[in-house]
Amino acid sequence: MSMSIDKIRNFCIIAHIDHGKSTLADRLIEVTNTLQKREMKRGQMLDTMDIEQERGITIKLQPIRMAWKGHQLNLIDTPGHVDFSYEVSRSIAAVDGAILVVDATQGIEAQTLTTLYMAMEYDLAIIPVLNKIDLPAADPERVSKEIEEVLGIDRSEIISVSAKTGENVESLLDAVCEHIPAPKTSDIAETRALIFDSVFDPYRGVVTYVRVVDGNLKAGQKVHLLNAKRTFDILEVGYFSPGYEKSGQLSTGEIGYVITGLKTTSEARVGDTVWQGAGLESEEAKALPGYAKVKPFVFASMFPLEADDYPVLRDALEKYILSDSALVYEPASSSALGNGYRCGFLGLLHMEIVQERLEREFGLDLIITSPSVPFKLTLNSQKGIDQSRITDDGFYVISTPEEMPPREFIDLIYEPYAKVEIVVPSEYIGQVMELVQRKRGIQTNMSYLNEARALITYDIPMLEIIVDFYDQLKSITSGYASMNYEPVDYRPGDLVKLDIVVADEPVDSLSTIVHRQFAEAQGRVVCKKLKEIIPRAQFPIAIQSAVGAKVLSRETLSALRKDVTAKLYGGDVSRKMKLLKKQKEGKKRMKQFGKVSIPQDAFLTVLKRE
Ligand code: GDP
Ligand code: MG
Repeated sequence: MSMSIDKIRNFCIIAHIDHGKSTLADRLIEVTNTLQKREMKRGQMLDTMDIEQERGITIKLQPIRMAWKGHQLNLIDTPGHVDFSYEVSRSIAAVDGAILVVDATQGIEAQTLTTLYMAMEYDLAIIPVLNKIDLPAADPERVSKEIEEVLGIDRSEIISVSAKTGENVESLLDAVCEHIPAPKTSDIAETRALIFDSVFDPYRGVVTYVRVVDGNLKAGQKVHLLNAKRTFDILEVGYFSPGYEKSGQLSTGEIGYVITGLKTTSEARVGDTVWQGAGLESEEAKALPGYAKVKPFVFASMFPLEADDYPVLRDALEKYILSDSALVYEPASSSALGNGYRCGFLGLLHMEIVQERLEREFGLDLIITSPSVPFKLTLNSQKGIDQSRITDDGFYVISTPEEMPPREFIDLIYEPYAKVEIVVPSEYIGQVMELVQRKRGIQTNMSYLNEARALITYDIPMLEIIVDFYDQLKSITSGYASMNYEPVDYRPGDLVKLDIVVADEPVDSLSTIVHRQFAEAQGRVVCKKLKEIIPRAQFPIAIQSAVGAKVLSRETLSALRKDVTAKLYGGDVSRKMKLLKKQKEGKKRMKQFGKVSIPQDAFLTVLKRE
């Protein structure tokens, strides 16, 4: 039984992080009886990954189909964090409307604006929703005014709800049916569907999430992937409940999944078109617009703690990128850490999540080097230079400090800048400006959302943003500021490679690229931290920071005979054993550098700047 196309509504929920997208999705699921109350064992049902539940954030888009008053509703819940805006943009391209949620206790925040702009680019119908009206701190009057004045949305269109109590959620469903347009019908004879997500299921292989644009998809059909130029037989089609619910077919306008039988990573990529028609060579085989490929701008190298795990890491990454097309990687090796991969991430949270998922889902222990951004260099000599790194416009591109050529070969170093939008209560504007200045940022604009809150835009070097800018912003504004950023361009910067040298051995994985004005201070901090972390040896250990041949700071760890049990006076044998055992476990997580062993934690501790 297939649904008449004019009864289908495809929409997503967009909002700033924590404004209640996933909770609202829960209520929609409940009110439509898609899941029974007893099946909703926890909050945020659509946050299906363990890591999402534990952290209370949505990382991946998640579709679900619901029924409401004779309509078929296909909802996609999306993440709010800026690192995962790629998930939002993919969801937006697969739907016809969006519920824009604004927290009535907060108002418009940075991601409210960016996600709305994305939705407007795709001409989505927008349903503005004021959420959390059950809270005493809710100020629907002020926030409605903001929505009207800043977003240009008529106040009469706003629907006020509580995603917690379910108040007014039924009217929201009615509004979805009324205001979001049905999918467009098409007169194209061949079947075409857009892949907006693609995951690897250990039992079923590659499962693609699709929006059918023309025609129907059924099990048994032979279909083609137009970009990958692959052909496969569809094993199963169905919709999301939110699990996989097998159905007879997916028809025009519907959102659902296709089990492909494909086994490898590169075959069914996000943005590709599933096409059923004559062979791949035929005239009609035209791919749908797809997506711009995401450009990672945080880079770090990843190494298995145990060298033997390298093949495990290789397999893990191959599987992992099927459910996270934003991650890029290529093999890398380090004299200190052995074989691993140089990875490109969308931001620090993305990096953290990738590491945690790889460790947890594939049983790996990983070391990640300090994150950096890509730099473009102009060189005065190409002697001994890897020509493949030279771009068409003549730049030499590096993404990790180890790749930096010797200083005498470099004319100029260009660093990436981001356009940063910050929404902040007026009383904190001064603090924010001071922070941005410290981070070498330049203010480009300022306007007021209302008397009490400002929207300020800056250009800030990406290098200064990636490590802890967001944390600092939150802490100087008591949590009230929100921000969004996106890359804009490259500009020349006075940057240097800061090396860390332990017992005369440079530790390549601790090198960083920093602005010259920060080199000395950062070198000192890193050396101090290392001094606390590196266990003493039977000889003194010099810990130095240097730029080129110039030493900037030095710490000396004095020699000590290490005997952890010495301070226990006989007696408590079991405690002694415990301590020894702990010390042994500690040993396993050490890496040997020349004569000195550095604990794994050192890399993580050093990475967090003050
Ligand atoms: P998301 O990041 O937009 O998906 O936000 P969540 O749905 O995860 O909600 C963030 C927090 O706000 C959670 O602690 C929710 O319980 C809470 N929350 C969401 N909607 C409401 C609401 O209508 N009223 C109240 N009081 N709390 C809500
Ligand atoms: Mg969420």
